[in-house]
Amino acid sequence: MSMINVLPKQVAELIAAGEVVERPASVIKELVENSIDAGSKIVTVEIKNGGVTFMRVTDNGSGIAREDVTTAFLRHATSKVKKQDDLDAIATLGFRGEALAAISSVSRVEMLTKTESEQVGTLYRAEGGSEIFVDDAGCPKGTTIIIRDLFFNTPARMKFLKKDITEGNAVAAVLDKMAMSHPEVSISFIRDGKQAFKTPGDNNLMSAIYAVEGREFASSLIEVDGEFSGVTVKGYVSKPTACKPKRNAQSVFLNGRFVRSGTVCSALEAAYKNSVMVGRYPAAVLHITVPFGAVDINVHPAKTDVRFSDERRIFDAVMFSVRNALLKGDSRPEMTMPASHKQIRMTADEFRQTVIPEIEKDRNDVLSQYEKLIINSKNTAASKRFSQPGISGGPAYTSYNPEPKKQQNEDVVFGNLNEKFLSVSKAEEPVNEPLIKAPMVAEQPVEPVAEKKEPETLDSNIEYIGEAFKTYIIVRRDESLYLIDKHAAHERIIFNKLKREDGTAPQLLLEPIRVTLGKEEYSVVLDNLELYEKCGFELDDFGDGTVIVRSVPSVLSGEEVSSLIIEAAEALVLKKTIELDRLERIFETMACRAAVKAGNISSSPELLALAKTVLEDENIMYCPHGRPVAIELKKKEIEKQFGRIQ
Ligand code: ADP
Ligand code: MG
Repeated sequence: MSMINVLPKQVAELIAAGEVVERPASVIKELVENSIDAGSKIVTVEIKNGGVTFMRVTDNGSGIAREDVTTAFLRHATSKVKKQDDLDAIATLGFRGEALAAISSVSRVEMLTKTESEQVGTLYRAEGGSEIFVDDAGCPKGTTIIIRDLFFNTPARMKFLKKDITEGNAVAAVLDKMAMSHPEVSISFIRDGKQAFKTPGDNNLMSAIYAVEGREFASSLIEVDGEFSGVTVKGYVSKPTACKPKRNAQSVFLNGRFVRSGTVCSALEAAYKNSVMVGRYPAAVLHITVPFGAVDINVHPAKTDVRFSDERRIFDAVMFSVRNALLKGDSRPEMTMPASHKQIRMTADEFRQTVIPEIEKDRNDVLSQYEKLIINSKNTAASKRFSQPGISGGPAYTSYNPEPKKQQNEDVVFGNLNEKFLSVSKAEEPVNEPLIKAPMVAEQPVEPVAEKKEPETLDSNIEYIGEAFKTYIIVRRDESLYLIDKHAAHERIIFNKLKREDGTAPQLLLEPIRVTLGKEEYSVVLDNLELYEKCGFELDDFGDGTVIVRSVPSVLSGEEVSSLIIEAAEALVLKKTIELDRLERIFETMACRAAVKAGNISSSPELLALAKTVLEDENIMYCPHGRPVAIELKKKEIEKQFGRIQ
């Protein structure tokens, strides 16, 4: 007896179906793709019980002519590819001619369809892949397809289905992507009788995002519109402050098709470097368009992972487009803080309106003076007292405390910037007595460090008030107080300076320094000599794990050279291939090192100079690790806390 059989058609189809139809979500994906391929403007999807018992997709596309209906359900039956050449320029979502055959082989199918030119439409029914009925039917142009009882004839597959709710969620996830990949089509989704969403189909990506993801998500986005050697990148990414703890809010569409690409994700995250907190990920809805043939794209139609022959080009296109979007002045991220905080938001325009123009002129002077001060400073500044009218001797004051629960002093008149009430826990206390000895800005007492006789106003309306905890500079500008983290600010200033290349000028050391490195670090330094040179280091191999340093970048003084070279090497060992990234890594390390000294500075002119630099430059919003540099407290908000205004 022969051992080898050709599988019966039915069995072969079931096996093939396994590749296409895994769960209701994969059916919906195929059906909606068919509707979009058919030129539909409106697509309505309805499911019941997670899609397992009932799925209906209605469209107003081309419809299928009577003579083609039966064929459409055969394997390898497609209207989208006719000859081999067509395979090189496929513009439709489907092309393998497998979906209808596969779906129909594992369910009960009913299709109503009519083309423009036909007088009457067609009603088609099949069960388990066998046609049972074809007849005339009155229906509008377009196609409605109903799938019932998925896997009714393959109980083994049925067992793999999850709970209805999980299957329904998977369908929803597919439809979210479909809606955002084709904003020109109005897609609505009805789940167990309730409308989950409906996009307007106005070809505006933002309206589709709004419909699918909701207002909060939509309002956290900034627009991306870039092009890089033929690759266009359009869409939206989240403001750095709206980044998520997980990567799952990243939707990438390649030529109109949802894909997953490691390259695109890394490019996206690279663009946010230095402006997003560690452990947070940008959300994104990005449409990448690559001309046919420009980059070889390898994507399985039923799967989503994609590879490009020229990954680098895609990486660059995404990274530069997103980075440009983030840098654009008019779309600067608004900083928000949890609960009661308000953070500083400075756009270039706001800055121009609020700061007198002369500041602009002396900005660079101030900056360079400041740099000199810090770099030469060995000042460990003994704390000095300062007294500020209204703070120590003033009336009872409210503690501005971001974490009310931790508040221990019961007597505190506690206020929250977001809440319009003030509460006094011991109302019988005499009102004219100070209720608390709590500080103005935080739980611990303000540690006064700077001598201040009069409010120091230089040539601007930025007034120096003091420094708290040897960390935060307090200044007033116009109707706001600002708390500025001096280390974060300084780090950012140096980082920006390095990136502008004016901090990397090499300075010859009088005495070259020898630095001995670990094995891996040693070889990474040797591999990156040019990179170090770009940063202002002149290094030579001294053999045996040792390099000799002849020059250092001008922002640094000699002392921290060896630790810096070691740290930068460690950072390089840990990460990344692209040069820009490596460069930034060294810059980050340099900025951090150089800024450490900033912890020491505390003379009021230095601190004022730093505050001015921060408030004037809208590029100083976050430290290179993504922490915010300044917090704004509006006078209005303060007055609300005191009950002076409502
Ligand atoms: P493919 O999409 O790969 O061509 P399918 O099995 O999904 O294969 O569909 C087979 C054919 O049926 C399509 O090529 C198309 O001509 C036709 N078809 C399927 N769904 C629709 C629809 N909603 N409107 C018009 N034509 C459709
Ligand atoms: Mg198809």
